[in-house]
Amino acid sequence: MTRPSLHRAAGLAAIVVSGAWAGWLGFQLHGYDVPLPLMFASAFAAWSVLGNGLLWLIGELATVTHRCATKGCDFAVKLTQPTAADSRYWQEIAADHPHRKVGRS
Ligand SMILES: [Zn+2]
Repeated sequence: MTRPSLHRAAGLAAIVVSGAWAGWLGFQLHGYDVPLPLMFASAFAAWSVLGNGLLWLIGELATVTHRCATKGCDFAVKLTQPTAADSRYWQEIAADHPHRKVGRS
């Protein structure tokens, strides 16, 4: 399984898991005679929060950040699912950040 398809499968799994959890939560609320609109709103909110949290986490795990090493410089490049060549290319650009050349002749 390639990394992009693994990333998609993990995202789909996050949506399914959060949907199942929200469904279980809605079912639990139904047992307490919670009104139907409130039950759906609560389940949807739970699905939204957990689903977005898991998708954010999956995205962060697949992201590589290259920063300029100069103290005080906030130059950074974030790459999502980069190839080794792309990662190396941007790592070299971050290491050779142009501000380092200001003042030199
Ligand atoms: Zn810099």
